[in-house]
Amino acid sequence: MTDILNLIKNRDPGEKEFHQAVEEVLESVQPVLDRNPQYRQDAVLERITEPERVIMFRVPWMDDQGQVHVNRAFRIQMNSAIGPYKGGLRFHPSVNLSILKFLAFEQVFKNALTTLSMGGGKGGSDFDPKGKSDNEVMRFCQSFMAELFRHIGPDTDVPAGDIGVGAREIGYLFGMYKKLSNEFTGVLTGKSLGWGGSLIRPEATGYGSVYFAAEMLAIQNQTLEGKTCLVSGSGNVAQYTAEKIIELGGKVVTFSDSSGYIYDEEGIDTDKLDFVKRLKNIKRGRISEYIDKYSEAVYTEADTSLDYNPLWNHKADCAFPSATENEINETDAANLMKNGVHLICEGANMPSTPEAINIFLDKKILYAPGKASNAGGVAVSGLEMAQNSMRLNWPADEVDRRLKIIMKNIHQTCLNASAEYGVSGNYMAGANIAGFTKVVTAMLDQGLV
Ligand code: NDP
Repeated sequence: MTDILNLIKNRDPGEKEFHQAVEEVLESVQPVLDRNPQYRQDAVLERITEPERVIMFRVPWMDDQGQVHVNRAFRIQMNSAIGPYKGGLRFHPSVNLSILKFLAFEQVFKNALTTLSMGGGKGGSDFDPKGKSDNEVMRFCQSFMAELFRHIGPDTDVPAGDIGVGAREIGYLFGMYKKLSNEFTGVLTGKSLGWGGSLIRPEATGYGSVYFAAEMLAIQNQTLEGKTCLVSGSGNVAQYTAEKIIELGGKVVTFSDSSGYIYDEEGIDTDKLDFVKRLKNIKRGRISEYIDKYSEAVYTEADTSLDYNPLWNHKADCAFPSATENEINETDAANLMKNGVHLICEGANMPSTPEAINIFLDKKILYAPGKASNAGGVAVSGLEMAQNSMRLNWPADEVDRRLKIIMKNIHQTCLNASAEYGVSGNYMAGANIAGFTKVVTAMLDQGLV
């Protein structure tokens, strides 16, 4: 295992997020490798850590003043052993090859856990939609798709949204794909309802994360009723995580964005949540504006000179990190433990650093890794693809019912795999082992391709 890690680190020394994601998976699957010594000769690790294909391209676009800009864009087609590449597009200034390779690598195992037929991919650009007009975003999306369209397709690669890519961006991307391909197909998921989208897709990642948390609590004969919950982010995942927590009787006390966070000790109820949805999805404002309306809350500006995030330093029972990678470090993890948090359910991808995860595992709290707990989004994307293929739409309660079953099954799959390999209750190991085993088995069945 050390050999392969060294190989990856030496070959691409700058890709620290990708190294982090690979290291976590490889550590977990060591018992699987020990049981299957032939994997060495089959170079399974070398194959699964190398993308099948990486597409990198420039995106020229013109702003409203006539100035031309050029952004860099990527699509990582990581692994297609169990289905067409599937995974979101991220538009954020931090996007680079390392971030997208880590996300694509995680996506491979996550998609395997859903039991749907989807390989893993991820893409995006260092374009920042924040502060851009709708027309600028449209021109960027059209230019982005003018290149990407030749590499994707409903049976090849089906992108979706991620940070910075919501319903607006998916609409512009889909419009351009349709024009260029002269086809109306389910090539993107997260589409609007009127033209091929699925009910419950916007809600799916957040709802799924809370369903997973409820399953973990049920093992201990507990529920979310009356539990105080810290939620980070205020985008798609955070909003619907909060919505489901509130519905199940929990109390949400925080939301954040990259500028800071709000703490509302009284709890964010459905009216306050509706305000946040309008603020973020329609007005595209900042979370600081929450306190202009609800003066009982406190706003704290993000302070990069601190080595911890104060959002994670409040008394609570549960934490749902739903913003971005590495947002919980070792100090944050220690603060969470000190404040009584006994359940961490990751809505974001890789929000906890390896040091933070070690603390959660040492303390034996309920810890759900994103690749299991946030799989509800891609699962309903899979259901959107199924509905598109059949050219029909399932009602919301039908999609929600299927989502619940999928999250319940993923939870059980993680538990079973962890028990089988002697690490009972370790959801991280269970998720990695189960996802890895499924993908490797398919790869070996299909020969050396
Ligand atoms: P959104 O763009 O809707 O929201 C992202 C939120 O996180 C915003 O509040 C944003 O604040 C905040 N944020 C982003 N980057 C940072 C940063 N560097 N520091 C602090 N805050 C930050 O994205 P999603 O809700 O869709 O995605 C959130 C996470 O969930 C990501 O990790 C994503 O990969 C993961 N995920 C999403 C899925 C989906 O279906 N959407 C599926 C599975 C996982 P600001 O507005 O200031 O940037």
